[in-house]
Amino acid sequence: MTCPACRGDMREVQVDGVTIDRCDRCGGVWLDAGEAEDLAKASAGAGQDALRRKKYDLLRQWKVAASDPRPTDRTCPRCEAGLVRVNYKDVPGLHVDKCTADCGLYLDQGELQKVRLIA
Ligand SMILES: [Zn+2]
Ligand SMILES: [Zn+2]
Repeated sequence: MTCPACRGDMREVQVDGVTIDRCDRCGGVWLDAGEAEDLAKASAGAGQDALRRKKYDLLRQWKVAASDPRPTDRTCPRCEAGLVRVNYKDVPGLHVDKCTADCGLYLDQGELQKVRLIA
């Protein structure tokens, strides 16, 4: 799969038992809608780990928490629709790029560090 940000190659990596796609070149990550849901479900196993629960809650809310969408010049690696940049209402300064057809979402390396999806 081709990275929507830098056109580099994306490679499959495992996070908490869920396979997601990560760019070798820029470190961004693509989550298919189903993968985001699977990771959100893993929050049940996070127990008292508040940080993990929070990051999974963020993933679960990716469709509804989005506000203020702005168009980007990136395209969805699955369906070629445009990606829009959205802000999380509850997390100032955190934005993700999401497919307008809801295929999934893309997180830049810097955004990833904010949610600490990958340590
Ligand atoms: Zn990339
Ligand atoms: Zn799409």
